[in-house]
Amino acid sequence: MEDLAGKVALVTGSSRGIGLASALALARAGADIGINYRARESEAHAAEAEIQGLNRRCACVQADVSSGADVQRLLQQVERKLGPIDILVNNAGIARPQPFEEITEGDWDDLIETNLKSCFLLTQGVLPAMRARQWGRIINLSSVAAQVGGVVGPHYAASKAGMHGLTHYYAQRLAKEGITVNAIAPALIETEMVTSNLKAQPGLIPVGRFGTSDEVADVVVMLARNGYITGQTINVNGGWFMT
Ligand code: NDP
Repeated sequence: MEDLAGKVALVTGSSRGIGLASALALARAGADIGINYRARESEAHAAEAEIQGLNRRCACVQADVSSGADVQRLLQQVERKLGPIDILVNNAGIARPQPFEEITEGDWDDLIETNLKSCFLLTQGVLPAMRARQWGRIINLSSVAAQVGGVVGPHYAASKAGMHGLTHYYAQRLAKEGITVNAIAPALIETEMVTSNLKAQPGLIPVGRFGTSDEVADVVVMLARNGYITGQTINVNGGWFMT
């Protein structure tokens, strides 16, 4: 297992939920952290203060990851303050629970751009420096929805399944360059995304409860430390989907 001291990790959508828990866990494991948020400025700055309280460096950047221009600015600001990014956690995402008959073209584009295009844009942005240093970790937060359909809608399920395609493509191409690319597919983790969705009920989960963000963050740190797991999807789902 690798020590993460001195590594720089960017966690998108880390003002709250799974992203916040992952950012804090990576900081506790030794990494300096790029925090990113879209709208919740005060929560993002509270996260920044907590990371600095752990004696880690932190860059806190507002950026909409569905926009190529914002992603470029996000990467530049994090790199200027902390140095090249070693660990990218593609976590930012939205879920708009909707009856599938009512989904519009605009809803589809929003979901795909925020959840999937962002993953491509950020990966493209960090790869040159990772390849130059022959070390990198890319961790994509997909979902059980990619495997079973889930409780949000077809646009969400498709966006998350697309992340598995990106994971497989990059993992295979980059395996000899010290760069691992993996997905984590959670189910029903107790965050605002889940508590605001009436269809998300603990009864769907074999273990009988929602998961915690820390239970996902543990796996983020494990994947960041491990150089021999690549191209995999790690299911953190209370047994909903079994492989
Ligand atoms: P939350 O809704 O609790 O948090 C979402 C985070 O993403 C916030 O930090 C939010 O920022 C940020 N965000 C949303 N849109 C953008 C954007 N366009 N640009 C930048 N940041 C953005 O979500 P969770 O913590 O529950 O989920 C995290 C990831 O895990 C998501 O990709 C989700 O799809 C996935 N996931 C979650 C599951 C769950 O059960 N919770 C299950 C399966 C997958 P702000 O605070 O500023 O709004």
